[in-house]
Amino acid sequence: MAICQYQRPNGLVWLESQTISVSGGVAHGFSTRQGGVSTGCFDSLNLGHTRGDDPVAVRENYRRFCEATGAGRVEDLVLSHQVHQDHIRLCTADDRGKGLDRPRDYDADGLMTDQRGLPLFIFSADCIPILFYDPVRRAVAACHAGWRGTAQAIAAKTVRCMAEAFGSRPEDLLTAIGPGIGPCCFTTHEDVPQAMVGALGDLALPYISPAAEKGKYHVDLKGINSALLRSAGVDSVEVSDHCTGCRQDLYWSHRFTGSARGSMGAVIMLT
Ligand SMILES: [Zn+2]
Repeated sequence: MAICQYQRPNGLVWLESQTISVSGGVAHGFSTRQGGVSTGCFDSLNLGHTRGDDPVAVRENYRRFCEATGAGRVEDLVLSHQVHQDHIRLCTADDRGKGLDRPRDYDADGLMTDQRGLPLFIFSADCIPILFYDPVRRAVAACHAGWRGTAQAIAAKTVRCMAEAFGSRPEDLLTAIGPGIGPCCFTTHEDVPQAMVGALGDLALPYISPAAEKGKYHVDLKGINSALLRSAGVDSVEVSDHCTGCRQDLYWSHRFTGSARGSMGAVIMLT
C-alpha cells in the first residue's frame, strides 16, 4: 500500500495513507496548496493562520480540509506550535480548539491523544510531517520533524511517548511520513550531517551523500525518519515520495520561497 493523492470536486487535493485509511476508526490527511480560497503568495489552500493571510480565507481553507479528510470540525482542532524541539503534548478534551479558536498555552512539535473526536493538527512546509495510529489501543499522534527534530529523534520519541501514555506497542503502530523536502532539494553545509551523525550515529549515514558542490551534502530527512521509526520497533511505515521542492505546483517550499508563503499541514483524529 502507499500514500495516495485524492481530489474533491472543489479542487482540493490531499494525501492519505492507504494502510491507515483501511484500518478504520480514524480520519487523517496531509494537505497540499491546491483547492483553497487564499490568493497571492497564499494561493490557495493556506492553513497558516499567523502568516498575514486573510483570516476568513484561512478558516474556509481549514473547513475544506477538515471536510475532505473527515477529520472533525474546525472549532475542535488542536494545533501544534512548532519550536523545532522534541516535546510531545498529551492532548485531552480540555485542549479542544486550542491554537486556532482559543489561546494556546503550550509549545509542542508533537501532539498525541486517545480521545475520540479530537483532531490533532501539525504544520509543515519542507519539514517532515509524521502521523501515527494505534488501532489496538486506540490512540493517535502527529509530529513535525525538521532537521533539528529529526536529529533529536522526535519520531522515535513519539513512539516511546505513546507507549508510556497509552500502552501502545510499536509493532501495532501504523505510521505515515508525508510530503516534505527530498534529498534532491535539501542541500546543506556540513553542520547538518555532523549534527545527524553526532546525534544518531550510523543510523543516519546511509541517508547522507556528498553534493556536486564541494563541502555540501544531500540529506534524506524522510529516510532518516523512516529508519528511526523502524529502529523504534515500528513495522508499518508508509512514506510519500513527493518532494516539496520539486513539486512547487502542489506544495510550498520554505527553502525556495522564504517566509512569503502559505503552510501545509497534517491532521489525524480518532472517529
Ligand atoms: Zn526535490
